[in-house]
Amino acid sequence: MRKPLIYGNWKMNLDVKQSDDLVRSLLAVKLEHNVVEVGVAPDFCSLSTVAKTIRDMGAPISVAAQNISQHEKGAFTGEVNVDMAMTAGADTVILGHSERRTVFGESDELINEKVRLALRCRLNVILCVGEILGEREAGVHTEKVLYQLGMGLKGVTTDRVGNVVVAYEPVWAIGTGKTATPADAEEMHAAIRKFLSRLYGPVVANKIRILYGGSVKPDNIGALMLRENVDGALVGGASLNADDFIKIINYYK
Ligand code: PEP
Repeated sequence: MRKPLIYGNWKMNLDVKQSDDLVRSLLAVKLEHNVVEVGVAPDFCSLSTVAKTIRDMGAPISVAAQNISQHEKGAFTGEVNVDMAMTAGADTVILGHSERRTVFGESDELINEKVRLALRCRLNVILCVGEILGEREAGVHTEKVLYQLGMGLKGVTTDRVGNVVVAYEPVWAIGTGKTATPADAEEMHAAIRKFLSRLYGPVVANKIRILYGGSVKPDNIGALMLRENVDGALVGGASLNADDFIKIINYYK
């Protein structure tokens, strides 16, 4: 009932040509888009090139911006607004990524502003949440994640939340080679779904996809995807290698 979604977050790693080459490598392979949905998040400079290549090839691959401004327009040097991202070809935006939260100091309130703006403008949202290691060790990880989720979705109505995908990304697992066990991921995903059900009712909550992110690789994706509430993955490092990313997309084979 929930179609799996595998999304690659390329972060600030590839130039325009490298991004285009990478997406062309994905497009060269016959992916079963009816079984698994695929998306990529290039940097802003590469976004329109990647989106155009995907459009030209007629592939149903989603394209995400890695961020947007909370402002609609104006004197905000260095920022990219929602219209710019969408005109460049983004259908989705990743918000609340732990790197935005920790390196750039984005607060829950700011993330919520961006979430509401994106949804108002019909840009789909991947909302990232996740605890740091100390919070897991202190046993407050679920509380922390649900707090972030509640804050991120504040004011998001039932008719809009269908355009949100949640990504649970334990910060201690991002880019570290450490992955949450499938059981730990499932426990958190189930808690997230229960929380969404309290906010929006079970019918809506059961349709919302919850991705896992944090050192997903070809050799651990299969076990994660066997879990009931793991609906896909947000992949950083391994999405930069076409062979690895294709293996992750084809996890079910
Ligand atoms: C991420 O940054 O969203 C991520 C999950 O990265 P990695 O797969 O490299 O841990």
